[in-house]
Amino acid sequence: MANQKKKQSTGPSLSRRPGKALQAKSRAGAAGQKRGTDLARVRAILEKLDEAYPAATCALKHQNAFQLLIATILSAQCTDERVNQVTPGLFAKYPKPEDFAYANPAELEREIRSTGFFRNKTKSIMGASRKIVDEFHGEVPKTMEQLLTLPGVARKTANVVLGTAFGIASGVVVDTHVQRVSGRLDLTKNTDPKKIEQDLIRVVPQEKWILFAHQLIWHGRRVCQARKPRCIECNLERICYSKDKTV
Ligand code: SF4
Repeated sequence: MANQKKKQSTGPSLSRRPGKALQAKSRAGAAGQKRGTDLARVRAILEKLDEAYPAATCALKHQNAFQLLIATILSAQCTDERVNQVTPGLFAKYPKPEDFAYANPAELEREIRSTGFFRNKTKSIMGASRKIVDEFHGEVPKTMEQLLTLPGVARKTANVVLGTAFGIASGVVVDTHVQRVSGRLDLTKNTDPKKIEQDLIRVVPQEKWILFAHQLIWHGRRVCQARKPRCIECNLERICYSKDKTV
């Protein structure tokens, strides 16, 4: 993947030095109060995810950070498959940020219509591209703070770009799959994505943040599906006590 400076960890080894919050949770568990985020349990979950998805990565097709940013904006309320059908033609027609920045909005709306919410997405894509051209010398910024100044970019999109394009673990991507699966695995009791991210950041070692989010997304798509999780095929079944379990 172009522009990737740090490699994601894909091996099964885990941090031997968990953060203070994680150690405190572990002590709470050892005191007799078994919790969803007990250190040993979280480790077991991470090991199982590594076994099942050692090389999970972003499913959005892209060749650089800017293309990933545009694809991620398009993926809101839309499947990655649909976005991947639209982006090859789009990136061929608009290869650089300035091409999107000064596009004909009506034309762009037509070109991305099939991804849904095409008017808002056109505004976001053109606005973000204009800002990248005007304020960031045509380059996608590499900090959370700067990315959040781009129109249409919130924490989820910023985490996707920083993690996947630049290898920077700034947080944990929380999409609908991460939201659902982390809840079922009792890693969070929250439903607000920002709070879920904070819960996950507290229990997952930072060097795992990027891969962990991709693994939960893959697990949510392939096994722990929204309507009917395929628990019989799930390698986490023995350590999952979700009320949604089907076995
Ligand atoms: S056991 Fe079922 S509910 Fe639990 S993580 Fe696996 S698929 Fe999801």
